[in-house]
Amino acid sequence: MTTHVWDYLPEYENERADIHDAVETVLRSGQLVLGRSVRGFEEEFAAYHGLRHGVGVDNGTNAIKLGLQACGIGPGDEVITVSNTAAPTVVAIDGTGATPVFVDVDPETYLMRVDQVEAAITPRTRALLPVHLYGQCVDMAPLKALAERHGLVIFEDCAQAHGARHHGRLAGTMGTAAAFSFYPTKVLGAYGDGGATLTDDDEVERNLRRLRYYGMEERYYVVRTPGHNSRLDELQAEILRRKLTRLDAYVEGRREVARRYAEGLADTDLVLPALAPGNDHVHYVYVVRHPRRDAVIEALKAYDISLNISYPWPIHTMSGFAHLGYARGALPVTERVADEIFSLPMYPALSTGVQDKVIGALRDVMAAL
Ligand SMILES: *Cc1c(COP(=O)(O)O)cnc(C)c1O
Repeated sequence: MTTHVWDYLPEYENERADIHDAVETVLRSGQLVLGRSVRGFEEEFAAYHGLRHGVGVDNGTNAIKLGLQACGIGPGDEVITVSNTAAPTVVAIDGTGATPVFVDVDPETYLMRVDQVEAAITPRTRALLPVHLYGQCVDMAPLKALAERHGLVIFEDCAQAHGARHHGRLAGTMGTAAAFSFYPTKVLGAYGDGGATLTDDDEVERNLRRLRYYGMEERYYVVRTPGHNSRLDELQAEILRRKLTRLDAYVEGRREVARRYAEGLADTDLVLPALAPGNDHVHYVYVVRHPRRDAVIEALKAYDISLNISYPWPIHTMSGFAHLGYARGALPVTERVADEIFSLPMYPALSTGVQDKVIGALRDVMAAL
């Protein structure tokens, strides 16, 4: 049987009764759009983070795009981020009309090189957008110092970092606003698309509620454009409320898988995930690195284990972003790691039997390489 890099079915079997009850609750509520479940989830998700406002939207991409717009960012502005991220981070920035500007990443943690940010700041820079990639946070103290000195917004992309902590603080609580995705594979995943933006700023919250609702503050009257129809679905919101109560357990489950992988693979030539100072990792993906990555993946095919590469192409090398004008070689670490990384099966309900199969197969392959 193929071992998948991600599979929701074991978790669904464990939680079936609760998920069905969530669906039944919404279907019987008499309110299918922006009802009690969206409002409840927004309040509970914000409260989990100790923040005042959460606004549910239709996906993580729009949580970033509308979030940036709610912070006043748009055409003519520059947003500093990384090219080593999921494409939606940059699609969302681009979607606001602002220009994404990239700095390189650290070769050990794959996170934003915060020490390169200051040199990338221009008079047009409006926001710094750290991506808490793979489940651990960017070094926030120096980023905050820069933001204060230059009067910039910090917008956290937390799509991979639900429940992650940085010097004790939760991801999503360290900037002006933060975006989350609830795409099914994420650490907190829905049974379909979903997203949310968190903020403590009343005006940003108000802007978000208007932006996701056609530009309206009350029915049928558009106050201001742009407007979108980007509401979080009521069914997904109720499922997310139930799953939020288990978020800490999901994170524990992922940490246990990561711990077993690290133990089982410690004496191989694979470069295992590195933890940056002050971070509690939530292991959204378990990324390893090897200079002969393609040969390792080829050899693993015989073991029927499916792997993933997060991500095979740096954003600045994609044809869709050619207009940004980055040449190959502009971000050397980003480009090198994209050729060397791959990710192992990772989800909290991954059985120890399957974990051992993955470890055993990798040990065989590495020994024969
Ligand atoms: C998943 C993801 C997104 C986009 O979320 P969607 O819900 O798929 O739109 C954005 N940024 C990062 C880092 C992601 O991993």
